[in-house]
Amino acid sequence: MRRVVLIQPRRDGRIFGKAPGSPYTLMRLASLVPNEIPVEIWDENVRDLPLDTLKDGDLVGITSMTVTIEGAEQIARQAMQRGAGVVLGGVHATLMPEHSQTFAHSVMVGEGYFTWQKLIQDYANAGIKGMQPIYEDLTWSDLGSVASISDRVIQMVDESNHYWTPYLEITRGCPRNCSFCTAIRVSGQRMRFRPVEEVVDEIKRRKIKRFFLTDDNFGLNFTIAPDYTAELFEALMKLDLQGWTCQSEMSIAKHPDLIEMSVAAHLDKHFIGFESINPDNRSSLGGKAKGVAEQASEAVRTIRQNGVGVVGLFVMGFDGDTPATFQAMWDFVRGSEFDSVSITMLTPFPGTPFRQQLVDEGRLLDSPWRHYDTAHVTFQPKNFTPDELRSAYDWLCRRVYGPGQIMRRGMRSISRYPLSKAGKKAFGSFSTDYGYRRTYAYRHAV
Ligand code: SF4
Repeated sequence: MRRVVLIQPRRDGRIFGKAPGSPYTLMRLASLVPNEIPVEIWDENVRDLPLDTLKDGDLVGITSMTVTIEGAEQIARQAMQRGAGVVLGGVHATLMPEHSQTFAHSVMVGEGYFTWQKLIQDYANAGIKGMQPIYEDLTWSDLGSVASISDRVIQMVDESNHYWTPYLEITRGCPRNCSFCTAIRVSGQRMRFRPVEEVVDEIKRRKIKRFFLTDDNFGLNFTIAPDYTAELFEALMKLDLQGWTCQSEMSIAKHPDLIEMSVAAHLDKHFIGFESINPDNRSSLGGKAKGVAEQASEAVRTIRQNGVGVVGLFVMGFDGDTPATFQAMWDFVRGSEFDSVSITMLTPFPGTPFRQQLVDEGRLLDSPWRHYDTAHVTFQPKNFTPDELRSAYDWLCRRVYGPGQIMRRGMRSISRYPLSKAGKKAFGSFSTDYGYRRTYAYRHAV
């Protein structure tokens, strides 16, 4: 075995010379490669891939989401032509293994932390012939001591020079059941927790001062695991952090004591999935929201009053949505107190009940996978034609991401900080909205 090469296909590329987020899963998988085997991480967001250097004896692991699977396929085919053993993993491979199998020797279904080591062993023993077609791990094992990032990988990736935002995992899973969600099909519905001391150790060894949590729904832990959450905040309070952000839900508004602790622990913003302000969509929202605008506004006000920022995440195109929903959404956003807002298009990802419903009803459009970017219409909507839904979405995004709105939300966000910190927080206060605007504009140019 010559070496292991882990590849992240291109998605966003670089912004001002750095890629948006570090290749966190690949960093953890690379850390499981035995020390005597050379390992490399190739991130196509950072640099062109030297595929011509691949040859017999290389084991190539490619991670992919549905939106990047076409790029992953091209990379996989070239690597196979050059004689490398190729394995596909990640969200798309887990949700649609039969598709990934058409252009790889092996597919990793579920969490690779245990099966990856088995695959390396199989390849080391017998080369491509030793690779099994499927390596499956859907056991949702506890997270203690699972794939801690090694010092060899920390040095190799050099996050501070190549990435704007380091990612970090503290918990995984979500017991909710939103009809469109891929996260729970990949991470399971049991909330799992990393031991607090392991989290602290990783932050210290990576020397990161800011991070974005990859956790599917960290905020739910305020309700279901308050003791763990408090213990975590106590530990993070003692670290010299500039700020961190997480994905969350509005139930945190019921826990002002924990919000207060979180501020001391440097938690800066919650990305909250409100999803919809149309109560007709309630059955799709997995019990975390009721689609009521007043309730959402009240939660945002309470959370912000306790000193934490809120990024509102919304999805358009549910079966209950009509042209009036788009007008209502615009009225809601422009009168809201969000720090930033994300508006995405409902997308029928493989493996979800929503996709199955569309298949059963014959409403899935024949769209390329690259349009599964949450900004394209990929199904026949209920109360619109696809063109009408596309136009309504464009109409809303042009307003929400207009310069005046971004400025208004950015200024509100900055006003949360004391003057002494405002300068340092200026970039973060505007960049989230700017990133959503850029992503929306970029995707629609494709
Ligand atoms: S709350 Fe979030 S992570 Fe949980 S099922 Fe719904 S969309 Fe998925």
